[in-house]
Amino acid sequence: IINVSGFNVTFGETRVLKDIAVSFYERQVNCIIGPSGSGKSTLLRSINRINEGTDQIDINGMISFKNTDIYGKDRDLTLLRKEIGMVFQRPCVFPRSILENVVFGIQHHQKLSKAEKLEIAETQLKAVSLWTEVSSRLHEPAHSLSIGQQQRLCIARALAVKPSVLLMDEPTSSLDPVSSRVIEELMSELKKEYTIVLVTHNIAQAQRISDHLIFMCEGKVIESGDKEKLFCNPDKIQTKTYLKDEY
Ligand code: ATP
Ligand code: MG
Repeated sequence: IINVSGFNVTFGETRVLKDIAVSFYERQVNCIIGPSGSGKSTLLRSINRINEGTDQIDINGMISFKNTDIYGKDRDLTLLRKEIGMVFQRPCVFPRSILENVVFGIQHHQKLSKAEKLEIAETQLKAVSLWTEVSSRLHEPAHSLSIGQQQRLCIARALAVKPSVLLMDEPTSSLDPVSSRVIEELMSELKKEYTIVLVTHNIAQAQRISDHLIFMCEGKVIESGDKEKLFCNPDKIQTKTYLKDEY
């Protein structure tokens, strides 16, 4: 569903992504792993074009989504981000009620009645298994939730605009093991309907939930493919070394 080819990003003098070529597949958990600083977040952010505010950035190459160029001249960024949602490492809830957080993105596109908001909130909060926990507190501030709950709320907010792709940058790294597992199970459930691109430092997590695994190092994609292949029989010595040392 997403194809990256000959893609380069340079910040000032530093080449951060070097001639990246990789594909992300529909209705799979596409997992990007690799050492710190290898360019994982930069690649993820390039897919919904949120790198561009940055100073001195130079981008070239091609990323296509459903066979159209993401960096094409006529691309509507609001629409692009509606199709490709993002969830960050730390939950970033807005200083509003739980209900308003869920419907936040949709309101860019349409005006909603109170009843419509409630209906959407119920559907999306159920989808992230948060409904029973928060149904009686929808009007309370989102910050009153635990961090794990806030992260699920952020996922509900991303899903509410009905994207086809969900980009997730280390969504469980600020969570305790139990909340992490809840989010992992959720991702396995969500891939039935969405395409997930997940960056994680957690190799065990990648082994549990990825379908397609991408190993990056020093701004390059070293190897990508089936997780069984990368874990059991990698082509590249760097992949083998990294997976052995980290796992
Ligand atoms: P981590 O696992 O620690 O999150 P990462 O693989 O996500 O690392 P990136 O955040 O993509 O790595 O960063 C890759 C390189 O790009 C790093 O050397 C970083 O310093 C550099 N970099 C990232 N963003 C910027 C920026 N806005 N300006 C300058 N350099 C940047
Ligand atoms: Mg990162």
